[in-house]
Amino acid sequence: MSLSATAALERTAPHVEAARAAAPANDAPPKLWFDGELTDATQLQAALNTHALHYGSGVFEGIRAYATKRGTAVFRLPEHLERMRKGAELLGMSFDVAQATEAVLATLRANRQGDAYIRPLAWYGEGSFGLDVGGHPQHLMVATSSTNVHLGGNRTRVSVSKWRRNPATSLPPLKLCGAYVNSILAKREVKARGFDEAMFADDDGFAVECTGANLFIVRDGRVTAVEHRDALPGITRDTLIRLIGAESRPVSMEELRDADEVFACGTAAEVTPIGEIDGRVYDAESPLAREIAAVYARTVRGESSWSSGWLTEV
Ligand code: PMP
Repeated sequence: MSLSATAALERTAPHVEAARAAAPANDAPPKLWFDGELTDATQLQAALNTHALHYGSGVFEGIRAYATKRGTAVFRLPEHLERMRKGAELLGMSFDVAQATEAVLATLRANRQGDAYIRPLAWYGEGSFGLDVGGHPQHLMVATSSTNVHLGGNRTRVSVSKWRRNPATSLPPLKLCGAYVNSILAKREVKARGFDEAMFADDDGFAVECTGANLFIVRDGRVTAVEHRDALPGITRDTLIRLIGAESRPVSMEELRDADEVFACGTAAEVTPIGEIDGRVYDAESPLAREIAAVYARTVRGESSWSSGWLTEV
């Protein structure tokens, strides 16, 4: 998704400019936290018999840090790491939230990126090709990269994928690595048909979510968060429900088509208005989605009354 709620802020805010100026020179390799140490990212490699490489036996998070007036801060870090802990537990991995918190903060300090995307990953490493993970070592890494906002201005064109979302009864909606093959298939399928992004619908005609973002609809000024048991319980979704008091309930595809506005949300996507779903074109102005995007942008930048409880200073 290319449109970002924070775009306008990022171009103007002095603390954002200052954070960029403090970042290391482009040619310095970024540091990556791996099993307790910060190392140049270019120096690290994974073995070819890594269990997670073959079977997706890992769990990850997508988190963001923002330059605020009080310095760089991570948005809803405990909630992201708690979700990761649940995924790790399901895979039988030990996961120390306090250690992961320190790893995230240490990597951000080392890379001095200001606005950053943060990728922690816990996975099963070297060992046999059997499906039993017992005896395989566990690893943890944290990588960070600068988030570059694209000011494309083009409105995301979405299509409903022919693939169904992993049912929660087979794969719980957590950020398990292997589960994302489902998103990759859907994205590939709709891109081949000329769309930007896929969304999932279920067999009963209900909307589920996009490949890496949750959905909201707006109808007659009322904002509704799409609820579905197979969808990831997104942290951005939860943030918006609290910020604007939106209701959460199942939404049929018919209702989605009849909506005045539809928008997607997620840590990476922030709040992204959807321009079209399979030929149904929505209000080009997306007035409420844009207003909500602005509220979200202020919140992640430490400028709303909600911010202090949700930001971890680096
Ligand atoms: N759904 C899926 C499938 C995702 O991968 C993401 C991104 N983590 C989301 C929704 C949005 O979740 P969050 O707001 O926690 O980033």
